[in-house]
Amino acid sequence: MCSIKDFLDNCDNCSDDRYFLNVVPLKEETCILSEISLLKSDITSQLRICDIHRNIIIETTNKRYRRKNCGVPSVNVILKYHNTTKAGDRHVTPEMFQRIVTKTGIFIPIGTPICRLCREKLLGNNSIEHVEEFIPGLTAWRYYEAKKHTANVGVGLPVKELTEKKVKINIDSLEHFIDFVTSSHVIKD
Ligand SMILES: [Zn+2]
Ligand SMILES: [Zn+2]
Repeated sequence: MCSIKDFLDNCDNCSDDRYFLNVVPLKEETCILSEISLLKSDITSQLRICDIHRNIIIETTNKRYRRKNCGVPSVNVILKYHNTTKAGDRHVTPEMFQRIVTKTGIFIPIGTPICRLCREKLLGNNSIEHVEEFIPGLTAWRYYEAKKHTANVGVGLPVKELTEKKVKINIDSLEHFIDFVTSSHVIKD
């Protein structure tokens, strides 16, 4: 029997081919672990999975990716950020899943549709998910480099305030100047 069977509700038996979880590609390994509320560690690397249960988990995740409404409030009673149905505009990716667990300790399964409000509540205003809405094409690498830069060097140069300066002109000098430029001393065409 593989290690995953006990976590799943169905009674399907394992297939004969059992292998260690850490030979599965990393993203998929994260998905499988997210399904049984675990994070990758030395201990989880010792778990074994079979093809039957691997496929069951892949299918469950794919089904979740096909859903449209934000599924965060139904994951856990402490996540009632909205009572009404809201459309999710993203799905929880393996990266987002890990950031949410690290920040909040809450496992939101990969593929769960998530709305903007729930992302803000779970990840905060400074998260890459929030910032990339305003900077299209922002990559995780650029985001974290910029954060590093801010931590080491400080924020970028402040935007210069343009001040309009009014210059007071002495009326006598002004009249003198006008007299001069309109006088016959200045050659005019
Ligand atoms: Zn199995
Ligand atoms: Zn939501």
